[in-house]
Amino acid sequence: MEKVVIVRYAEIHLKGRNRGYFERVFTVNLEKALKGLRHELRRTSGRYLIAAFDANDVDEICARVSRVFGVHSYSIGLRVSNDLDSIFAAALALCPTSGTFKVDTHRADKKYPMTSPELNAEIGARLLAAHPALRVDVREPDSCIYLDIREDGTALVFGAFEEGAGGMPVGTSSKGVLLISGGIDSPVAGYMMAKRGMEVNFLHFHSYPYTNEQARDKVVELARILSRYTLASSIATVKVTHIQEEIHKKCAAELNVTLLRRFMFRIAQRYAQQNGAKCLITGESLGQVASQTIEGITSSNAVVSLPVLRPLIGFDKEEIIVRAKKIGTYETSVLPYEDCCTVFLPEFPAIKPKLSYIEEEESKLEIEPLVAEALATLEKFEL
Ligand code: ATP
Ligand code: MG
Repeated sequence: MEKVVIVRYAEIHLKGRNRGYFERVFTVNLEKALKGLRHELRRTSGRYLIAAFDANDVDEICARVSRVFGVHSYSIGLRVSNDLDSIFAAALALCPTSGTFKVDTHRADKKYPMTSPELNAEIGARLLAAHPALRVDVREPDSCIYLDIREDGTALVFGAFEEGAGGMPVGTSSKGVLLISGGIDSPVAGYMMAKRGMEVNFLHFHSYPYTNEQARDKVVELARILSRYTLASSIATVKVTHIQEEIHKKCAAELNVTLLRRFMFRIAQRYAQQNGAKCLITGESLGQVASQTIEGITSSNAVVSLPVLRPLIGFDKEEIIVRAKKIGTYETSVLPYEDCCTVFLPEFPAIKPKLSYIEEEESKLEIEPLVAEALATLEKFEL
């Protein structure tokens, strides 16, 4: 009898011809997620089995598996040879001694000598004989014993299906650069794109010494939490202090945020191109703050040629918060911090600035040297 974690994958099977590719990426991602834990990963038809692990690690293995995109569901179970005595021994090990239960069989091996209802009845009867306080209830049982008769002469026996993260394996939908702040929104935006299979590179802008190291540590921590899902290994930071000082000195105060955002996009695009990323990702949501209007979006899109994905564009703050809590970034996001956008924040930011006005103000700045100077401050932090 071997203890295993059974992993079933999601949307991958929809991909027809690309199935082999998706499965390879999924395998690599599972291995990455399980790194540092002793285990063996086996692929069987339609399932993955994690085996040969330390019994004490099973909760950690499940926690990690639950965050891998592409996982539809998973179960802790036992793998045994498919004879009745072995199946019964496994079922007995998993079955409670009282309350109501049922046995639910799935047969991948259609040549197995017993049908699913026959197996349900036989194993059910043996369990009842072993534990007289048990009762069968096929409609609403307190517990269920699932039998999965595989085609290789084995059976998987387990007590529950746990829900996986869904989505598609990270890396199967190209690569994007997430502009990540210390706020609530951008981590959620990164999570959503990773869930659709996108590899996400993190890029953060700071205004040291106006923003301090705690602010940076906070963003690194957010990236670390996110990396459990995105499987990313580092975050890049770029200093935009000088850009902000120049904007503050030379341009209309009401455009501070708008102009800074345009610099962020330019730098992010350059970084994306250097790293083979095909798009930018932000946590913007329409109308949430003054800069997140269609005019604001137009103004920042105008300086880049890469597409900008804004997965939260139609979300209310409350909806974003619910997701941030589920992902586990919320508690960190709400810690107090200074973001570079709050340095030199004008009292009345322009809500619907005209592009011609923005460009006129921006022409007072040496754009290219400022972008190059900022990029030269790029630092990477391992997660
Ligand atoms: P968030 O909660 O993600 O900070 P927000 O509601 O505070 O969002 P803004 O501060 O207007 O909104 O920022 C809009 C988007 O711009 C953010 O979601 C993020 O993608 C990007 N952004 C803002 N500040 C930074 C920063 N310091 N570094 C990187 N990206 C940033
Ligand atoms: Mg913010």
